[in-house]
Amino acid sequence: MRGVVLFDFGGTLDADGARWSVRFHAGYTAAGGREPFAVFEDAFRASDRALLRVPGIGSLGFRAMVDLQSALVLARLPDGLTLSRERIVEDFHAHAVAVIRRNQALLARLQRSYRLAVVSNFTGNLVPCLEELDLMSYFSAVADSGRVGATKPDPRLFRHALESLGGGVNGEPVWMVGDNFEADIRPAASLGMQTAWLAPPVARSPDANVPTVRLTTLTELAEVLPS
Ligand SMILES: [Mg+2]
Repeated sequence: MRGVVLFDFGGTLDADGARWSVRFHAGYTAAGGREPFAVFEDAFRASDRALLRVPGIGSLGFRAMVDLQSALVLARLPDGLTLSRERIVEDFHAHAVAVIRRNQALLARLQRSYRLAVVSNFTGNLVPCLEELDLMSYFSAVADSGRVGATKPDPRLFRHALESLGGGVNGEPVWMVGDNFEADIRPAASLGMQTAWLAPPVARSPDANVPTVRLTTLTELAEVLPS
């Protein structure tokens, strides 16, 4: 094996650098919603916290989670209940699935030469989501903050992924691929990992020495990692 590649999930495997809140807000606006992003994002963060308290969240799949999160966000917005949740869910889900289907060829190729894992700030149900999306077979370990009890940028979540991969990580190159500089890239670089930051070219790195490489779409990773 040539090394280990850790992936963020939201905004990395399911979209080229666009966060869930940004994509949900675009769908909400397209459905006629009028609240600006700042208001929407507060409601979205509250919905994240509410999701963690939903009984049975640990077994919720991707589509059901997108639907539930939409309901929780819309209930917190003044115009939320007047809009078509179905349309917002369908837009979000269709876009995510299209990007994931595109990324599967990359993951299949990388899997032959690298051990792959996911390191994600999630709600304890990342494994059922990856299974529903036909992604689970590519990964040897999944570190879901909702299960591990540590949230990126906490280095414990990264270490949990490496420990789950078993021994032999010492000496092998380890890459972290993610869209959030402060949560994914900076802590991984501090742990000595190589870093691939998925971000628009206009986004400026807050640290001149980081990342190792920049990506505008995940598929560019194929040029960075030799097979
Ligand atoms: Mg992300």
